[in-house]
Amino acid sequence: MSRVYNFSAGPAVLPEEVLREAAEEMLDYKGTGMSVMEMSHRSKAYDTIIKEAEADLRDLMNIPDNYKVLFLQGGASQQFAMIPMNLMKNKVADYIVTGQWAKKAYQEACIYGKANKIASSEDQTFSYIPDCSDLPVSEDADYVYICENNTIYGTKFKTLPNTKGKTLVADVSSCFLSEPVDVTKYGVIYGGVQKNIGPAGVVIVIIREDLITEDVLPGTPTMLKYKTHSDNDSLYNTPPAYGIYICGKVFKWLKAKGGLAAMKEYNEKKAKILYDFLDESSLFKGTVRKEDRSLMNVPFVTGDEELDAKFVKEAKEAGFENLKGHRSVGGMRASIYNAMPIEGVEKLVQFMKKFEAENRK
Ligand SMILES: *Cc1c(COP(=O)(O)O)cnc(C)c1O
Repeated sequence: MSRVYNFSAGPAVLPEEVLREAAEEMLDYKGTGMSVMEMSHRSKAYDTIIKEAEADLRDLMNIPDNYKVLFLQGGASQQFAMIPMNLMKNKVADYIVTGQWAKKAYQEACIYGKANKIASSEDQTFSYIPDCSDLPVSEDADYVYICENNTIYGTKFKTLPNTKGKTLVADVSSCFLSEPVDVTKYGVIYGGVQKNIGPAGVVIVIIREDLITEDVLPGTPTMLKYKTHSDNDSLYNTPPAYGIYICGKVFKWLKAKGGLAAMKEYNEKKAKILYDFLDESSLFKGTVRKEDRSLMNVPFVTGDEELDAKFVKEAKEAGFENLKGHRSVGGMRASIYNAMPIEGVEKLVQFMKKFEAENRK
């Protein structure tokens, strides 16, 4: 067996320890004689799995009691609709558009009410985070929406926007559990888990209780009401049971690593190796304004498309997978999530140095 260094943006690398444990438990989960995949979601064994997963997540993120944790399906993209359907009481919301995912969320909200684009970085292909200290937040806005880490472009909000008292809603899909967060600053934090936590198929929503009401837009399906899932502890219908089980294992792995403060330190160390190299390289360069750089997704280019393609091909042959940039931006992107070991980044930089020496113009 040989494992590659997988720099995919998502679905992405998972901790090897977690995969091994899951493999050991595949046929007989803790003496139940069955796999977690085959188990009733109403069984005692599964009840323990989902409750422990929630408790460990609460512990990791220090989630206050007045927030609910929901394990849902439909991906982050389904939240683009669920958020306006559930939160747009005045039918007004403000969106900060810092990339494709924020733009999609904004466009979806336009279906349900008056969505205002109050800031954007599209003028420079989303390569920076706009100044959000004094935006024209709408007086009747139900919420202000951000995508906190822009997976495709590699930017991250280092300070949260000044929402002028309005509820903040954040898509954290690609920075979930990468560093400590102050949950109390948000009304809703959500993310698809396939970037930094677990297998595709689970989306986690952390939502302040007062935002969960029956007062939703007319026609909202039962399955798309937060209240439905909140009232039933994420077991209204069959949840993505196996995916939640793996997420639970990743939460325990993170706790054993020292929690989110330790993860932040590790992630900063990892990202610095790559960014320092990009800053000194004569061939490769980063595409993002320095102060807005993500710790998770690192896009870079050589400035020559053919050379980019050659790099991606040779990197793959050397065991560095999925370094091609998103189809909308080209170039390269290394996603270096929690589970990417520091050796992976060190070896990638060594490989980039070798490639640079061989391809110097
Ligand atoms: C990947 C991603 C999405 C889309 O996630 P799906 O689960 O495929 O719907 C949304 N937002 C961000 C920030 C992402 O990285």
